[in-house]
This record gives sequence, C-alpha cells and structure tokens, in this order.
Amino acid sequence: MISTSSVVATIPLWINGRKVPAASRQCADVTNPATGAVMRQVPLAGSEDIARAVAAAHAAFPGWSATPPLRRARVLTRFRELMEAHRDELARLASAEHGKTLADAAGSVQRGIEVIEFASGVPHLLKGEHAEDVGRGVDCQSMLQPLGVCVGITPFNFPAMVPLWMFPVAIACGNTFVLKPSEKVPSCSMRMAELFQQAGLPDGVFNIVHGAKEAVDALLSHPDVRAVSFVGSTPVAKYIYETAARFGKRVQALGGAKNHAIVLPDADLEFSADALVGAAYGSAGERCMAISAVVAVGAAADPLVTLLRDKAAALKVGPGDAQAVDMGPLISAAHRDKVQGYIEAGTKQGAKLVLDGRGLHVPGCEHGFYLGPSLFDHVSADMTVYREEIFGPVLIVLRVPDFAAAIKLINDNPYGNGTAIFTRSGAAARRFQHEIEVGMVGINVPIPVPMAFFSFGGWKTSLFGDLHVHGMEGVHFYTRSKVVTTRWPETAAQGGGLVMPTLK
Ligand code: NAD
Repeated sequence: MISTSSVVATIPLWINGRKVPAASRQCADVTNPATGAVMRQVPLAGSEDIARAVAAAHAAFPGWSATPPLRRARVLTRFRELMEAHRDELARLASAEHGKTLADAAGSVQRGIEVIEFASGVPHLLKGEHAEDVGRGVDCQSMLQPLGVCVGITPFNFPAMVPLWMFPVAIACGNTFVLKPSEKVPSCSMRMAELFQQAGLPDGVFNIVHGAKEAVDALLSHPDVRAVSFVGSTPVAKYIYETAARFGKRVQALGGAKNHAIVLPDADLEFSADALVGAAYGSAGERCMAISAVVAVGAAADPLVTLLRDKAAALKVGPGDAQAVDMGPLISAAHRDKVQGYIEAGTKQGAKLVLDGRGLHVPGCEHGFYLGPSLFDHVSADMTVYREEIFGPVLIVLRVPDFAAAIKLINDNPYGNGTAIFTRSGAAARRFQHEIEVGMVGINVPIPVPMAFFSFGGWKTSLFGDLHVHGMEGVHFYTRSKVVTTRWPETAAQGGGLVMPTLK
C-alpha cells in the first residue's frame, strides 16, 4: 500500500480550518477502480499529525460548546444547503474513488444530507426533562451536555454517507470532531470540510486526518479524545472497541455483515427477484446492508433461482460514470482477487455456480477491477461462501424446507446487521419481525436502511457497543446526561438531617 508514485498530488490534512501538509512522509495511492489509474496520494498520518488535529479540536471545544444550540443549528442548515448545491460534485468524487455508479453515489450522498437535516433540529433534540415537586418544594431536571473531542473512523464503501452519520450529529450536540476517513476514498471528506467552513463553522471544530492503523492507534490512545465512532469490518470493529474502551473512551463500533433475505413460497417472486438483484449487486455488493444470502423456502427455490440468474446476467457492468451502467468495479485489484477466491472456494466445496462473473472484459478499461455478478445455488451453512462476508457481487442461495428453519439459520449466524422477508402473509411477517435477531429488518423491503431520524445499527458481531448511529441514539452517544435536583428553602427548618431523604 505504500506508494512509490511521485507524479500525482498529495492530499493535505484539514486542521484548524486549513489544508496543511502531513508531517509523516509515508503515503498511499488513491486509485480509480474503473481504470486502475493512480489519481492522487494520501498521507499516512502518524502520532505527530494526530496530536495537531486533536489539539485543534480540543482548543475549539470551549467556544463551540458554549455556542447556543440554535446558532449551531443555523450553521448546520447552511451546510445542508451547500451540500445539496454540491451533491453532484460529491457524487462524482465518491464514484471516481469508490467505483459505484453516479446515480448510486448521488443517492448515498442524499441519505447523508438527511442526517444533517436531522441534526439541524438539535435545539429540540437536546431538550431535557423536568419534574416539579419530586419532593416538597423540590424540582428535578435533566440536561444533555457535549463530551468534548469526538473521533470518527470510516470505511471505503460510503465515502460521504458514513462520515455524515457521525460528525453532523456530534458537532450539532456541541462537540468538536476529528475524522479519519478511509485512506482509499479521502476526497469527499475534504470537500465536505470546505463546505462546512463556508457555512460558518468555526475553525478547529471539524478536522480531518488521513492514514491507516498508525493514525487510528494514535487517536484511540489520545488522552483528549472522549468518544470514538467506528464503521468497518468486524475484526477491526472489535479491536477498536476493546482498545478505545481500555483507554477510557465511549465507543460505538459498527462491523461487517451477512444479510439474509427469506423468500416464502407465497411471495411475489418477480418483485422479490428484482428487489434482491438490486440489493445484492448494487454498488458491486460493497454495501454493509447488501443482501448476500437468499434463504429460499420450499417451492420458492426453483423459480426464484431462475429469475435471479436471468436478471443478474442482464446487468451491465462498466465504469461508474458511464451511461446505463448498473454496476461498477470493486475497490481494488486485491479485493477483486479475494472475491474471486470465494467463487473458487464455493465451487470446490460443492455449491452450484449458476452464474459466473469471472473473466469479464470491459472494453477500454482493461486495468479496472471488474468482476461480473455471480450466483450460487445449493449453498450449505458450513461452506466458506456462507460463513464469511464476501463484500462483492456474489449472491448465494440456501434452500430450507420451512419458515422455522429459515429463522433458525439467520439467528444462528454470528452477524446481525440487516435482514428482509418477502411474503404476502402478515402473520409470517409479524412472526419474523418479532423473532429475528437482527438490528434492521425489512418486510418486502430489501435494504432497510433507517432514515436519519431513526437509528442505524446491527446486533451481534455487527455492532460492538450499545448505541447505534444517528437518530436519538446518536444524540445520546454524543452527549452525557446530568440531573439537577433543586430546592429554594424559605426557612431553615426545611433542611438538614442524617437520614436518607424519602418522600413520606
Ligand atoms: P476496514 O475495517 O478495513 O477499514 C475501516 C477503517 O478502519 C478504515 O478507516 C481503515 O483505515 C481503518 N483500519 C483498517 N484496518 C485497521 C487496523 N488494523 N487498525 C486500525 N484501523 C484500521 O473496512 P473497509 O474495508 O474500509 O470497509 C468494508 C467493511 O466495512 C465491510 O466489512 C462492511 O460490512 C463494513 N461496513 C459496515 C457498515 C455498518 O454500518 N455496519 C457500514 C459500512 C461498511
């Protein structure tokens, strides 16, 4: 990953409202996955750079946290307007560095903008509770106060949306922030920092450092960091959770996924297959909420597999910015090779490869990281393609005899991010939503990503920590509550006593 290229520009850090070069001399390449060309370099920050960024955020905290929430909200409102005006530019940046199609990238930027919209209601969101006369002449109130410097560490697959799950809410609540975006897709974050400054955000409230493990480790152990939000793969999420907690930080660490969709025999199979093809192959399967395992119940299996194969085979694969392309490349050559390795493992272990995406040729993009859609049938729960997160355009079908077996399969899986059911039965859907051990559930909705005013998060190894991102759980993550009990005695006779006070 360490770059040798010297002809492309190196992205700076964003500290205290300015672009500054990193002290670290180490860099990595940022590649266009559609062509394989190196577009720019990103510095791999070390502890000196992290110290500068955290110091800027720490210095900005007293002023920003004392700014009335309504004033903070007005900055966020202007930021949202600027983000909307620049949505297509951000989508182009996301598509160029990630590879996803422009339309898909624009949709993900929009979902991120909706978090800013939610955070703009912060004067209301921060309101506490008040109870009069909890005792005679005694009142009680609670309030939510910011934590200090918060950190976000984000993955490659949503260059704008996942950072936006975090920093608008944290900053609206009165915190200051240091973002460490994925070193593979650093440019959207830099552009968002400029737009936030243009919206009136004071210098030092939002800072960006680039890098990988060394940068992350320096953030996790920094004494002035109060809270860490992480989104990425499960092994790294677990490491972040354990390490940051050891250093006394509040942590939410969202991990990987294996999202199942149950298709019951009574479902509209044409509708289900369309939804599943979009959910499995959209963004080349590089979505944490992608459906990667279909659980076909009984007689649904044969016709469903035929529909999935025909629809997946018809998808057009090419550069994300080309006309009428359904699916772009994978993020890197190494990841493409890893996903191909899963296809080989599935074949060797006895699954039936119904559609093979290997060997795809995209004219004019011979060095791009392409892999066509693949589909496996007759997968069993012991196979590698089921047990591991593939994070690519490979959909697997497991056949089960009945609904109870389908629910058990999902509940036995260690991941619990998203899931869906396709059925016409209200009773089946109701049983599913009640019994399934997964954080985000869709009923005839293949990718049930909650809107910004609800919270997003999985269960089991898809989340380490207690609180999900955005919505009210996000507000609670980025604040601590204080409860004040008040009495204004009119005579001295009302006070004193050594006994635990109780209400008689
Ligand atoms: P990743 O875990 O490799 O990297 C995520 C972040 O952690 C990056 O910023 C990276 O620089 C940093 N990092 C990587 N290795 C590290 C290490 N050893 N120590 C410290 N920091 C490290 O994930 P990725 O490949 O960028 O993203 C894909 C993964 O993210 C998939 O597993 C996907 O399911 C998951 N994801 C989950 C959600 C969710 O909401 N649960 C959302 C998006 C992506």
